[in-house]
Amino acid sequence: MRVTNLAEGSTEFTSNAFLVEPDVEGRSVLVDVGSDDTVLERLRDRGGIDTVVLTHTHGDHVGILDEVRDGFGVGTWGYDASSRYVDNPLAEGDTFEMGGAGFTVWHTPGHKGDHICLYSPETGVLFAGDLVFAGGSFGRTDLDEGDRATLVGSTEKVLENADGIDELHTGHGPSVYENARKHVEASLRNARGR
Ligand SMILES: [Zn+2]
Repeated sequence: MRVTNLAEGSTEFTSNAFLVEPDVEGRSVLVDVGSDDTVLERLRDRGGIDTVVLTHTHGDHVGILDEVRDGFGVGTWGYDASSRYVDNPLAEGDTFEMGGAGFTVWHTPGHKGDHICLYSPETGVLFAGDLVFAGGSFGRTDLDEGDRATLVGSTEKVLENADGIDELHTGHGPSVYENARKHVEASLRNARGR
């Protein structure tokens, strides 16, 4: 599995947009589309994708979603079936296939009500959206639908269910490629306020 941030180097206000590709067989999936047209150009260069999954539906994560849907003829997956951004709903405990690996879906509210994380037990790769970030920071909880205690509970759930988190890809900032669990643990401590 290869993970590439198509929003890398962007100067716009955008989330990361991770292209997840298989080594051999499997779906090529974009995890969040971001809000920078550069992502569209990079998608065109590679000849499209199979589908899109959204960690949540904040504007910086879905800004170019209509262009991605129209331009590449793909539907989207996400938690909130009533959202205009979500074509196919995912539920707690579902397995979502991307890059040739099965990712477990966890509903992880606290930053936003429809937030999910995706974790592959087989590869130790976690897509954490805006729940936690590298270096021990965590998602804003002062926005609509935000709640710190709920974010703490969601982070605890991820740590309880993900035995070995080796690699962490988040909605903003850099990815982590080893011992990523330590970063999530630090985020939990900081979110708890101690
Ligand atoms: Zn967000």
